[in-house]
Amino acid sequence: MPNSNGHGMIEPGSTIGILGGGQLGRMIALAAAPMGYRCHIFCPEQDSPASEVAALTTVAAYDDQAALEAFAKAVDVVTFEFENIPAATVEFLERHVKVRPGSRALRVSQNRLEEKNFLNDVGVPTTAYAGAASAASLEAAVRHIGMPCLVKTVTEGYDGKGQVRVDATTNLAAAWEQLKAREAIVERMIDFDMECSVIVARGMDGTCVAFAPGENYHLNGILDTTLVPARLPEARQQQAEAIGRHVAEKLELVGLLCVELFVTKDGRFLANEIAPRPHNSGHWTIDACTTSQFEQLVRAICGLPLGAVDRMANAEMKNLIGEDVAQWRKAVADPNAKLHLYGKREVRPGRKMGHVTRLLPLNNGRSS
Ligand code: AMP
Repeated sequence: MPNSNGHGMIEPGSTIGILGGGQLGRMIALAAAPMGYRCHIFCPEQDSPASEVAALTTVAAYDDQAALEAFAKAVDVVTFEFENIPAATVEFLERHVKVRPGSRALRVSQNRLEEKNFLNDVGVPTTAYAGAASAASLEAAVRHIGMPCLVKTVTEGYDGKGQVRVDATTNLAAAWEQLKAREAIVERMIDFDMECSVIVARGMDGTCVAFAPGENYHLNGILDTTLVPARLPEARQQQAEAIGRHVAEKLELVGLLCVELFVTKDGRFLANEIAPRPHNSGHWTIDACTTSQFEQLVRAICGLPLGAVDRMANAEMKNLIGEDVAQWRKAVADPNAKLHLYGKREVRPGRKMGHVTRLLPLNNGRSS
C-alpha cells in the first residue's frame, strides 16, 4: 500500500479522470489545477460545467466500453462527482485504472435500502424503514412503519425527486404509480429539530479528518442554505464529526464522504444518507477553510497528505437555484461574499446555477 513516504503517490503533472460533468466536477478541476494536476472529464453531455474548466473531455455514454477503455489509458486515477454513475461503469474502470473512492462506497450510496442497512450494521442509527416492491407490499410496509411516512425510490432519487409523503388521506395505489419505481423504501417521518451534515476526507494511509458540521435548510427538497458551524454545542459537533469518520472508516473509503444527519427533538442523531463525493453542503469550505473539500479529494485520491480543515471564518452558503441566479449582482456588491457560478447557460426551475458564500466572523455568537 502506498504510504506517507510517497510510495504510490500520484504526483502533480498527472491526470485525474472525473466521471460526471456537473458543478462538482468543475470545482474538483478548479481545485486540482493550482496543484499542477490536469483533469479529464468523462460525461455524456456536450459543454458541461466541468469540461469548461478541464484540460480534456470525453463526451460518451457511461456504457461505452471503448470510450471508457481509452479514458482509463489517458488518466492516472479516476473519481466520480455524483452517485448516479452506473456502478457497472466504475467496476469496468476498476479493472483498468485506480478508482477512488471505489465501487463499494458507490453501490452502498446508490441504493437507499442497502445504505440504511449498512448504516445500522455499523452502529449508526437511521429512521425506521421497510422495503416495498409492489403496491401490495407498499401497503404492508406503510402499516408496519406507521403514518405519516415518506416513500422514496430505492435508486436514482436526489434533491427530493422520487419521493411521496404518505398520510391517512393518501391513495397508496396512486402513490406507487406516481413513483414509477421497481422498488421503494418507506421511511418513518422524523419530526426533527435540525438537519446537518458532516464531510470527512480519508487519505490512503487511513488518516481521516472532518470539516465542521453544517446546518442545512432545504426548499422544495433542494438544499437552499448551509450555516457553519451548525448551531449545536461543541460536544455535539464533535459527535457528528465522529459519526462521519466512523462511516468513512467502515467503508474503507479513500476520498470524501458526506453524512447527512437529522437531529431529533430528543437530541439524537439519525443518519439520512451518505454521499461518497464532494457535497453541496461543503461548498463553504472553498472560501472559509485552509483546505477545501475539493482540494482534500484531490489530495486523498492522489495519495498526498490531507490538508488542515481549520476554519478561517464562519460561513453562510446560499444556493442560487433557477432564477435566483439574478442575485449575482447583489452577491458581488457584498465585500464579504464570494460568488460561484457554474457556467450553465440555460436557467431552469430547480437547477443549481451557482452559490454564494458569505464569510462571517468566527465568534459571531455561535458556538465555534
Ligand atoms: P433525501 O432525498 O433523502 O435527502 O431527502 C430530501 C429531504 O427530505 C431531506 O433533506 C429532508 O428535509 C426530507 N426528508 C427525507 N427523509 C425524511 C424523513 N425520514 N423524515 C423527515 N424528513 C425527511
